[in-house]
Amino acid sequence: MITTSAHDDLRLLTGGRVRFDEPMRLHTSFRIGGPAEAWVEPQDVEELKALLALADAAQMPVTPIGGGANLLVKDSGIPGLVISLQAPAFRRLDVEGTRVTVGAGVGLDRVVAATRDAGLGGCEFLAGIPGKVGGAVRMNAGTRDGQGGFRAMGDVVTEVTTLRRDGTTAVRPAGEIGFQYRQSSLNGDLVLEAVLALTPRPPEEIAQRVAALMAHKRATQDLSAPSAGCVFKNPGGGRPAAGRLIDQAGLKGMRVGDAAVSPRHANFIVNLGAAKASDVLALIAAVQYKVLQEHGAFLELEVQVMPA
Ligand SMILES: Cc1cc2nc3c(=O)[nH]c(=O)nc-3n(C[C@H](O)[C@H](O)[C@H](O)COP(=O)(O)OP(=O)(O)OC[C@H]3O[C@@H](n4cnc5c(N)ncnc54)[C@H](O)[C@@H]3O)c2cc1C
Repeated sequence: MITTSAHDDLRLLTGGRVRFDEPMRLHTSFRIGGPAEAWVEPQDVEELKALLALADAAQMPVTPIGGGANLLVKDSGIPGLVISLQAPAFRRLDVEGTRVTVGAGVGLDRVVAATRDAGLGGCEFLAGIPGKVGGAVRMNAGTRDGQGGFRAMGDVVTEVTTLRRDGTTAVRPAGEIGFQYRQSSLNGDLVLEAVLALTPRPPEEIAQRVAALMAHKRATQDLSAPSAGCVFKNPGGGRPAAGRLIDQAGLKGMRVGDAAVSPRHANFIVNLGAAKASDVLALIAAVQYKVLQEHGAFLELEVQVMPA
């Protein structure tokens, strides 16, 4: 709970730009979520540092969000400060030879288009993945590369500039970011920007690869209703993909309220209109239970539930 004096401090610090009780359903691809207690879009790193200092002094939790494409925000909302890095200061995109520096607030679609235009290959796999660079680094977003393999952010990122909660910045080599399957170990640090190391490739070839990947996504994903993409991680260990296990358990189309297991892609849960986070969570629990019973595999969440 933000105290009255912290309310006033936030108003003062942001020149009145803070928004209290901001509905998170406006900021998530699921179109679900209760209010952020305080929503701020800092104008630059200095304002961001001042916000972190204020949050520390007032003991407010701080939650960064990017495009909201991998989030399930609970109906009770997010306590404390929700920070969105979408101001121009966080949307830098600079190409220097084969090295591309991208701010945390740059959309992944812009990364794909700009690197294609610069004749730099390596980011094709980001085509059709919604979100921003900060969220994609945090999640180690990835998918098929269109060449028979898989590729994720950790394969192209060489450096990440992070901001610690104590206000100090650090330029960290990719090896320190702990990239793993759909996760990294940022330990609460904020991503400010990332450097990508790419490979010269003709723009036409990149465009062809992107088109093929997009066609594959359109053919396999359920883009007809709001979702957060794949809900569960694939279990690994030689087991079938999570979607296959859910499908084999006969759960396609299963519903709780307006939340449904997509009939098209079993690892997607879609919001048919007025789904609440509690509906999605109940459906998730039912799917996990059934898949565990049928296949002996526990499906871990890929989607980030907020607050955890
Ligand atoms: C239709 C659809 C298809 C999808 N397909 C794929 C796919 O093929 N592959 C894939 O990997 N994902 C996929 N996703 C999921 C999603 O697009 C990715 O996880 C993406 O990286 C999320 O980025 P975001 O900016 O929206 O992050 P958010 O959802 O906003 O946040 C995700 C996490 O990152 C943290 N975060 C956000 N910004 C920062 C920051 N600056 N610093 C530190 N932490 C931060 C948040 O706190 C949260 O924990 C899909 C989603 C949808 C809706």
